[in-house]
Amino acid sequence: MFSNKERFKEDFLKRLEMLCGKSFSESTPRDHYQTLGNMIREFVSNDWIATNERYMAVREKQVYYLSIEYLLGKLLRQNLLNLGVEETVAEGLSDLGIELADLEELEPDAGLGNGGLGRLAACFLDSLASTDLPGHGHGIRYKHGLFEQKIVDGYQVELPEQWLRSGNVWEIRKADLAVSIPFWGKVETRQENGRLVFQHINTEVVTAVPYDMPVVGFQTKTVNTLRLWSSEPAQFPVHKDILQYKRRTEAISEFLYPDDTHDEGKTLRLKQQYFLVSASLQSILRSYKKQHGSLEELNHHVCIHINDTHPVLAIPELMRILMDEEGFSWEQAWEITTNTISYTNHTTLSEALEKWPIHIFQPLLPRIYMIVEEINERFCKERWKETPGDWERIAGLAIIADGYVKMAHLAIVGSFSVNGVARLHTEILKEREMRPFFQLFPEKFNNKTNGIAHRRWLLKANPKLSSLLCETIGDGWTHSAHELMQFLKYQDDYSILGKLAAIKQENKQNMAEVIYKHNGISVNPDAIFDVQVKRLHAYKRQLLNVLHIMHLYNRILEDSSFSMVPRVFIFGAKASPGYYYAKKIIKLINTVAEKVNHDPKVGDKMKVVFLENYRVSLAEKIFPAADISEQISTASKEASGTGNMKFMINGALTLGTLDGANVEIHERVGDDNIFIFGLTAEEVLHYYRHGGYESVEYYHHDNRIQQAVNQLVNGFFPGVHNEFEPIFDSLLEENDQYFVLKDFASYVDTQRRVGEAYADSLKWQKMCLTNIAHAGYFSSDRTIKEYAKDIWGIHPVK
Ligand SMILES: *Cc1c(COP(=O)(O)O)cnc(C)c1O
Repeated sequence: MFSNKERFKEDFLKRLEMLCGKSFSESTPRDHYQTLGNMIREFVSNDWIATNERYMAVREKQVYYLSIEYLLGKLLRQNLLNLGVEETVAEGLSDLGIELADLEELEPDAGLGNGGLGRLAACFLDSLASTDLPGHGHGIRYKHGLFEQKIVDGYQVELPEQWLRSGNVWEIRKADLAVSIPFWGKVETRQENGRLVFQHINTEVVTAVPYDMPVVGFQTKTVNTLRLWSSEPAQFPVHKDILQYKRRTEAISEFLYPDDTHDEGKTLRLKQQYFLVSASLQSILRSYKKQHGSLEELNHHVCIHINDTHPVLAIPELMRILMDEEGFSWEQAWEITTNTISYTNHTTLSEALEKWPIHIFQPLLPRIYMIVEEINERFCKERWKETPGDWERIAGLAIIADGYVKMAHLAIVGSFSVNGVARLHTEILKEREMRPFFQLFPEKFNNKTNGIAHRRWLLKANPKLSSLLCETIGDGWTHSAHELMQFLKYQDDYSILGKLAAIKQENKQNMAEVIYKHNGISVNPDAIFDVQVKRLHAYKRQLLNVLHIMHLYNRILEDSSFSMVPRVFIFGAKASPGYYYAKKIIKLINTVAEKVNHDPKVGDKMKVVFLENYRVSLAEKIFPAADISEQISTASKEASGTGNMKFMINGALTLGTLDGANVEIHERVGDDNIFIFGLTAEEVLHYYRHGGYESVEYYHHDNRIQQAVNQLVNGFFPGVHNEFEPIFDSLLEENDQYFVLKDFASYVDTQRRVGEAYADSLKWQKMCLTNIAHAGYFSSDRTIKEYAKDIWGIHPVK
């Protein structure tokens, strides 16, 4: 079908007629997109089936990755690239007068995630398949992914996202594999042949229907599966209020919760979590039993990985199945479960650590709650033996305490591996946040520094840089990202440095067009493109960036001869709809932009751009055009970050704190190729413990701070009244919990150094080259190989 251009065109036209029921001349671009998508899926299906047969035949261990989010983005071009048919298809289409890029525009982003956590899951799927590892994803097929963001009058407005409006060409509905998920009701206990039997009765049953999407590896025959579950009413509901029942069931997979750092505590969210876990386990165990019979050796052949605590109910659910349905004893079931489940922690922010009130948990999941109670009781008894009478220690470790179920505690106790996502983060887990657990189970804790799918974020996103790399160091890096290191050989090659500069310039030119189209602002592609794109959150400190912009603006206003290297400050960020403070920051960015961009005194010196609706497909355009990567979170707060890696591999220089994976980026490129500033994690944690920071002192003693902070409330921005008072208060009244004012001077200073460095173009390009060369370590292929070897014990199957 894709063997050559002519064959492709012939097949394309034939299928177009069959699929759309019209002739080519009547067909629309959407018909073309649908046709191409169907062809690819059909083309992949042979390898997909063969991969599954291979996995059945070799009886190798397999991993199932459970994640409440998958931030996939678009799949068309990535699939073409991985299959090695991109050129054939592009040329064939072009002969027919169709641009592949235009079809790509028609594909909606699959935005089934909030940010880093969901994107990591997507990168891992790519790396699993591309390294021939037997690993599959399970998730929820949200009808509406993350909301679409519009900026109206400087404010964020949220619109429901509609990625399924025209169907999803990549999925296959498997109605015959549907399973039932029970909620509510009560548990009846009785003796049967000397055994306690538990029966969950009077339940409200929901049907979970799987939709499978192929995960195509890069230039390999491996095609793994992403199974997304959709909720539907059971076939024969016994409800009187059938319409309401229908609405309740469908609601489970209707919306993605739009918050990545705050736990909402809503019943529907807990329903989603159990829905995902129960459906996934039923399907995993069904196919396992078909292959192996008894579940006795489950942990030898299967690993179930939980991405953060959202799927942690996999632990009691597996216990339930093993005991209630398969007849294992508690001890046997516990042995199997705790050797099957592994867990990744994604945060140390206390507001993001999930805990569920018993009064919500118990009625919704009565049998699961009983099991969690029993896990807790047995766990606490053991602790009591160690330190009899030490209630405080035991209450601190307990899974159920103060009326809540603590999901992270359940995850640690019920799994065999607990990993953090960057070295610093893992150290903080071990030494501080989870210290008592680390002392109990030191062998469980390990680090797996995050990575990115470099084939999406470099090969696909930055074709020009990719070509230059292939011309210089060959194409081995597409498989083995560490080969990017060979690029270092060219660090003093003026011709290559010149080409690097030219590529960046072209990418910036393209970005400038996007900016003009969306924001109506002309930006100078010779300026430094200084970019901060990520979720809007106080700890990520977009505010620090804005205060610096305000400071520069003040300098320009005061001194008409003030000279600076021209800058374009680019922001992209969604705020959780209920996150009041974050939304104020969005309004502030847009307010500053409005003023700065229209002030003739500023001219070309700087522009401020807020790009609406930041998402994967937009991100792919931004990273290749960035000069500066803003990674300025309060040290200790960002678990890893992966945006930092996407910038780095595209030759942008990091301006950041020693937080998350920035620490490891710094370590690799060295002091000379990165701009580090601000408090260290150690210092921040010391302040939190011992106090000693007074933000007002910085306000009083630094005129630059005082001026900018006053402008938030003194009418400097006309027409916004008290709009920014909450920001002002957070900095002064609430003593600036994120150390924005503390780090301000160091940030301004470092930004000045950035400007100076940029002026020496050759030196700058050499720094960019060094970053690209060292970025191979941050490929998720490396991360996944570490998970495979150290945690999962799985091997490539070819
Ligand atoms: C990579 C990515 C993120 C994560 O960015 P961080 O800077 O690590 O927070 C969020 N959203 C999208 C669309 C991404 O591609």
